[in-house]
Amino acid sequence: MKRTNYIIANWKMNGFEKSISLIKSIQKHLVSKASNSPKVIICPPFTLLSNFIKKSKKQIKFGAQDVHHEDSGAFTGSISAPMLKELGVDYVIIGHSERRQYQKESILELEKKINSAFSNKLRVIFCIGEKLEEIKKRSLILKKQLRSLPKKISSKNIIIAYEPVWAIGTGQTPTLNEINDIHKSIRKMIYKKIGKEAFKISILYGGSVNSINANLILDLSDVDGALVGGASLKSKDFCKIIDSSH
Ligand code: PEP
Repeated sequence: MKRTNYIIANWKMNGFEKSISLIKSIQKHLVSKASNSPKVIICPPFTLLSNFIKKSKKQIKFGAQDVHHEDSGAFTGSISAPMLKELGVDYVIIGHSERRQYQKESILELEKKINSAFSNKLRVIFCIGEKLEEIKKRSLILKKQLRSLPKKISSKNIIIAYEPVWAIGTGQTPTLNEINDIHKSIRKMIYKKIGKEAFKISILYGGSVNSINANLILDLSDVDGALVGGASLKSKDFCKIIDSSH
């Protein structure tokens, strides 16, 4: 089954000083490309979202890197799904390993965030992945993390990103065979939860994707795109990754 291919940039807490030129060059590249390019989503820090969305063209969609689970209330410093929607944001990353680690986001908390995003018609990029010390019990960990997903999900409102924590920002990746096998097993897990719709859901790989390894990773039958951190901050590298998507 042909699934949608996505190349997603996670700028994390970076990019503010060169954001305009970065977006301009990606935009220029996409305009010059043939029509079969992947869907490109940029997730900059919250403070940059409003700048870009106002001027955004159809080639690039924008996403936030997090969302609070409540719509409003006494949550100093937080941003809610209705606030993102009002701004014109389409996507939100939920469950990134850095937030699981530093903000101690739990399975239940992430479930609430996903539900809030869905209620406000935001599409979710849901990240899962094992830590280095969890490799031997990877299946168990991924199954547990997938518990945050509600029973009613569709390929229209969710993208899964498999990101082994030990591969993020380290230059290390699982082998190509491993990546493909893990993606297959994630799809099986989702199938058990939601049935046939699982075959339509895009499962992306993330973790040290760069302009050199992107071709091989994105060529794998069960990889439907990439979530890119570090390399998404260099326009040449990011455009090369976009071009590696089939
Ligand atoms: C990420 O943090 O989502 C990520 C994939 O980072 P990097 O590409 O830098 O490993």
